Amino acid sequence: MSQRITVVEKILGANERLAETNRLALDQAGVFGLNLMASPGAGKTSLIEHTIRRLADRYQIAVVDGDVATSIDADRAAAAGAQAVQINTGGECHLDAVMLQEALAQLDLPSIDLLIVENVGNLICPANFQLGTHKSVLIASVPEGDDKPYKYPGMYQGVDALVINKIDLQPYIDFDMDYFRRGVEALNPGLVTFPLSCRTGQGLEDWLAWVGEWVERGR
Ligand code: MG
Ligand code: ZN
Repeated sequence: MSQRITVVEKILGANERLAETNRLALDQAGVFGLNLMASPGAGKTSLIEHTIRRLADRYQIAVVDGDVATSIDADRAAAAGAQAVQINTGGECHLDAVMLQEALAQLDLPSIDLLIVENVGNLICPANFQLGTHKSVLIASVPEGDDKPYKYPGMYQGVDALVINKIDLQPYIDFDMDYFRRGVEALNPGLVTFPLSCRTGQGLEDWLAWVGEWVERGR
């Protein structure tokens, strides 16, 4: 039993050291790195597309897409105007620092201002694996339900910002925003939150301003 715990700690320890190496590579190249996490279907790729389209005239943007299979998401990011690298995890349900290191080797980092990592759609283990990015962002969405902070506390505790997507669907879904926000506040007091709709564009400006501010600081 204790042996197994030691092994798990070793894996996480090695991952964290490699994440530090990734962070150094990003810092030296003046790249601001974002790790986007969410359940499948919350709108990670849609938010990335909007972010690329709106910020591409100001910044060079690269996207690293993690999926169990296919290059659908990297294709969408490339079509929106970013350099894109697809990582197929081959069954793994999260990205780790080794995978990001391999992806970074395929990018011309000094030419990039903003790196967006789209993690594998999953509300559990991505929170446990540091990648070396500067900020972690969780995307929740109205159709997932207002109980998610209560059910997946680890994910809500570890992030630097929260996007609440698909707010245009609120009239059609029993989603109690106050109940949801109370759950978030208990886990991550004062968390920066961006309620928005990728479909209608409502609320996108605040999100884009936040991202732009961090990119500027990192240059
Ligand atoms: Mg996606
Ligand atoms: Zn996993």
